[in-house]
Amino acid sequence: MTMLMRRYPGRLGLVFLLNFISVMLSIAVFMMIEPFCRLLFKGSLDNLSPISKFFVTMIGRVIDLQAINSIIGMVVFAIVLYFLKNVFSYSASWVMASIRSDLIYGLRNKLYDKILRLPIGYFTGQRRGDVVSRAVNDTHEIDYTILNALKTFLTEPITVIFYLVVLFYISTRLSLYAILLLPVTFFIIGRISKSLRKDAKTSKQRFGSLLSHVEETLAGLRIIKGFNAQSNAERVFDRLNNQFSDKQRYIYRKNDVASPFSEFLGVTVVMIVLVIGGSMVLSPSPHLSAELFITYIAMFSQVINPVKNLSNAIAGYKRGLSAIDRVNEILDADEVILQPRSPVALNSFNRDIRFEHLSFSYDGKPVLSDINLQINKGEIVALIGQSGSGKTTMADLLERFYDPVSGSILFDGVDIRQYDLRQYRSMFALVSQDVVLFHDTLYNNIAMGMENVTEEEVIEAARVANISDFIESLPDGLQHDIGDRGLNLSGGQRQRISIARAVVHNAPILILDEATSAMDTESERAVQAALDNVMRNRTVFVIAHRLSTVQHADRIVLLDGGKIVEQGTHEQLLLQGGLYKKLIEIQQLS
Ligand code: ADP
Ligand code: MG
Repeated sequence: MTMLMRRYPGRLGLVFLLNFISVMLSIAVFMMIEPFCRLLFKGSLDNLSPISKFFVTMIGRVIDLQAINSIIGMVVFAIVLYFLKNVFSYSASWVMASIRSDLIYGLRNKLYDKILRLPIGYFTGQRRGDVVSRAVNDTHEIDYTILNALKTFLTEPITVIFYLVVLFYISTRLSLYAILLLPVTFFIIGRISKSLRKDAKTSKQRFGSLLSHVEETLAGLRIIKGFNAQSNAERVFDRLNNQFSDKQRYIYRKNDVASPFSEFLGVTVVMIVLVIGGSMVLSPSPHLSAELFITYIAMFSQVINPVKNLSNAIAGYKRGLSAIDRVNEILDADEVILQPRSPVALNSFNRDIRFEHLSFSYDGKPVLSDINLQINKGEIVALIGQSGSGKTTMADLLERFYDPVSGSILFDGVDIRQYDLRQYRSMFALVSQDVVLFHDTLYNNIAMGMENVTEEEVIEAARVANISDFIESLPDGLQHDIGDRGLNLSGGQRQRISIARAVVHNAPILILDEATSAMDTESERAVQAALDNVMRNRTVFVIAHRLSTVQHADRIVLLDGGKIVEQGTHEQLLLQGGLYKKLIEIQQLS
C-alpha cells in the first residue's frame, strides 16, 4: 500500500478527488428529498433545514419554485446531479483501471525476468508446475483481490465518512444509535468471508493438482495413447476433478447463503433505525421532521453497502496477501549464481579449460567427486560413461548452470566465477539430446539470442548444418513457422536446426551432449555429417554413448560413478586394458 502511494501519488490523488466530488454530488441529490416531500405533503417550501435550503435557493435562482413546476425543476436538478455524479465516479474508475493494469503488468514482467534469471537447479520436476501456477494463478488472484480491495479502499471510506457527517448533522442522537449498529454488520459479514477464505484455499490446492495432471497428460499424450492408458489417466482425472468439484459446490452454497444473509442483516439494521427514528418523529416535541427523517433513512440505507464492501474488501485483501507471499517467494528466491562485482574481461578462448578437484552434488546427493580434466584449445575431448554417471552435469558445470560444491573450473587460467556470466556463456555453443525449439519461424529459431546476425549468416549456418535442402523445399523457406516446439519435424531435422543455431553463434567451444542419440541410422548420418562440419577448427567437448563416434577424439575420458576412471587416446586406453577395453568389446559384440 505504501509502495503504491509512492509509485502513483498523482493518479491516486486524482482518484481520491474524483471520488470525493462524486460523493458530494450524490449527497446533494439526497438533499433534494426533504424539499420534495415538503412540497408533496405541505404544499410549500417553508421551514426547510439549512442544508436543503441552500440547494433550493440555488434552483430558485433559475426556476420559480413556488409554482407547480417546482417539482419538475427539482427532478431535473436531481437528474443532472446524478448524471454528473456518475461521470465523476466513472472517471475515478477509469484512472484506477490504469493504475491496476500497470501494477499487474509490471508484476508479470518482473516474475518472467526472475524466472529467466533463476538458476536451472531451481526448477526441479515438481517445482516447475508450481512456478507456472504462481506466475499465472497467483498474479490473477492478486489482481482480483488486492487490487479490487484497493479500489474499494479508495472509494467507500469517502462515502461512509461524508454520509455519516451529514447523518450526524441531521440528527446526532439517531446517528449515535445507528453508528453502534454498523460495526456489528461489519463484524458479522467479516466472519462469513473469513470462513469462505479457508475453503477457497483448499479449493485452490485441489485445482492445482488437477492442473498438474492435465499438464502431464498433454506432455505425455503419446505415451498414454501408446500404452492404452487412457482409462487410467481418466480415472486419476475423475478423482481429482471430483475432489475439486465437491469443494466448489460447498463454496457456491456458502456464498449463496452469504448474500441473502447480509441483505437480511442490512434490512434489519435499517428497520431498527426506522423504529428509533420513528418514535423520535412522533414524540410530543420532535427534534426531527418527518421529511428529514425520510432523507435520513434514504441516506443511511446507502451507507450499509459501502460498509459491506469494505468488510469484504478487507477479507479479500487478506486472501490476496497469501497470493502475494507465493509470488514473492519466487521474486525473493536466491539467484545463487551471482555476477562478480568487477568481472574479468573475456573476449576469446586462448589456451585451455581445466577442471580442478571439482566436486558437485544435487541437494546433498553427491554426483561428481574430485574431477581433474584439461581441455586444450583445438582439442576434441570425449566424455563417455554410463547413463547417470554425471556427464551432463559436467557439461552444465562447464557452462556454469551450476557452481561446484568444491574445486573449480579455470578458463584460460581464471576461475570462471570471475567472468561476466553473459560473456562467459558466449564462449560455448550447446547441441544436446533434448532439442529445444520454439513456436516461431525457422529463421528466429536459428538466429535465437543473436542481435546482429545477417540473413546470409543464417543461410550459411543452415548449409553447414545440412538443413538447407529441407528449408529450400518449404514454400516460405526460412520464414516457415515450425509450430508448437517444432513437433511436426523429424528428430533429425530438429537436431540439424539446433546445430545451425550453434553454428550461427560461432562460439569457440562446442559442447555436444549425446547429440545423435535416439536417432535412426539415416538421420544420424546426416546429423553426424553436420557435426563434422561444425567441429572443424573448434574446441569440442563431446559426450557420447556410442563409442564409435569418439574413437578419433584427442582424448577420451571415462566417467564412472562420478569419478574419472580412465583417460587417454583410443589406443592408449585399449593398451591399458581397463574398463574402456571392456566396453569396446561389449559394443563390438552387439
Ligand atoms: P548422465 O548425463 O551421465 O546420464 P547426469 O549428469 O544427467 O548423468 O546425472 C547424474 C546424476 O545426477 C544422476 O544420478 C541423476 O539422477 C542426478 N541428477 C541429474 N540432474 C539432477 C537434478 N536436477 N536434481 C537432482 N539430481 C539430478
Ligand atoms: Mg546426460
